Amino acid sequence: MCYAIPAKIIAINGMTATVDYFGEERKVLIDVDDLKINDYIYAQGGVFVRKIPQDEALEILKTWKEVFFELKKTDAALAKIDQDKLSPNALAVLQKINLRKSLTKPEMLALLELNDPQELKVLYEIANNVRQREHGNSSCVHGIIEFSNYCSNNCYYCGIRKEREIPRYRMQIDEIIAAAKHASENYGFKALVLQSGEDFWYDDEKLVQIVKAVRKLGVLVFVSLGLRTKETYKKLYAAGARAALLRFETSNAELFAKIRPGTTLEDRVQLIKDLKEIGYVIATGFIIGLPGETNQDIINNILLARYFAPDMYSFGPLIQASDTPFATLPSVAKDLVLKTIAITRFVDSNSNILVTTALETLDANAKREALLAGANSLMINITPKDYRHLYQIYNNKVNANLEIENAIDDSVKLLYALGRAPTDIGVKNC
Ligand code: SAH
Ligand code: SF4
Repeated sequence: MCYAIPAKIIAINGMTATVDYFGEERKVLIDVDDLKINDYIYAQGGVFVRKIPQDEALEILKTWKEVFFELKKTDAALAKIDQDKLSPNALAVLQKINLRKSLTKPEMLALLELNDPQELKVLYEIANNVRQREHGNSSCVHGIIEFSNYCSNNCYYCGIRKEREIPRYRMQIDEIIAAAKHASENYGFKALVLQSGEDFWYDDEKLVQIVKAVRKLGVLVFVSLGLRTKETYKKLYAAGARAALLRFETSNAELFAKIRPGTTLEDRVQLIKDLKEIGYVIATGFIIGLPGETNQDIINNILLARYFAPDMYSFGPLIQASDTPFATLPSVAKDLVLKTIAITRFVDSNSNILVTTALETLDANAKREALLAGANSLMINITPKDYRHLYQIYNNKVNANLEIENAIDDSVKLLYALGRAPTDIGVKNC
């Protein structure tokens, strides 16, 4: 769920509140004890973010109401499937999904191996239909601040790996807080991802200070810091972080060992389990297109991600990064990523699926196509411009030089055109 409009609490049961968004009910985890029925709140990722005074909430809802239902009509029209045009195979998939039956592994593999353009079109339409059925027209738009490109690791695919000689930067604590404040106050972001290389210059004390200050802005704090100890993540949770983005990269342990020297899949998986145990909302996923990866691996990746019951799936194509061991790998086919999105939508119909920057970098149209193939979430880079172009985890990363206003505008325009409600980042007339 990612409506970032005021939600009215209609029931409270222990730490779970049932909230209403223009007639749609959602569940929200509440970790404060001063909330009562009829209060208005913001929630993100199924987690309480902040309370809103009633008059302010009613004013915002008044502005949204008309636009919201107009957008819903567009979304519903785009999500229609012409049943007469479905092949028997596609119809069988749709029937299974409608009956909420799980697809078998061979069925998933068969979908991943589809290549006929007409069949792919139908596959994406069905995934979009499932997305619309499960989420309505809600769409998550999170902001991401990439606060340091120092990294102590040497992942073979990554452009900021330790061994690579590149200009390095570290944002100071007050710079990070200022960037978060700007995003929250000027653009209305309700969820912010704080990401970096594995940079231990930021010790627990510094990280706690950052998380506390960003949480105070009334946003969901997402951390994406790579392998840190469970203790560190516990401290960050206590400081107010509630979501963690950590990909396992590949479910194939042998392949993992080859691409992330000095670390193991087991450690990464254990950390994701620890994060869940601490109470974090999880975003996880993998890279598509690692050397030697098979379609079976991709299906296993989807299933491993689902095992963690994530709030959000984050997977994208490997993009070449110069001067790394994988600099000359062939580009990943866009349809392979779109098919993976569609299958993930079937495997976990109620999840949030992110359109990654890597996919946008692979193909300029991919953002729109992914949103019409089952994806429902976007991330906007709000790293200050002086630093943004230096966080080159791969070549030609999109929007490296775009003003934040323009990046937001592009995303909002696209979401509006598709009938999605970008409630996180403000209201506009359709
Ligand atoms: N250091 C942290 C977070 C930053 S990297 C970590 O590794 O978890 C964030 C993600 O970027 C990684 O999880 C990886 O999946 C992705 N990534 C790195 N290099 C990439 C490349 N060349 N192409 C596509 N994705 C890449
Ligand atoms: Fe560092 Fe993350 Fe890049 Fe690996 S993927 S080198 S951990 S930034």
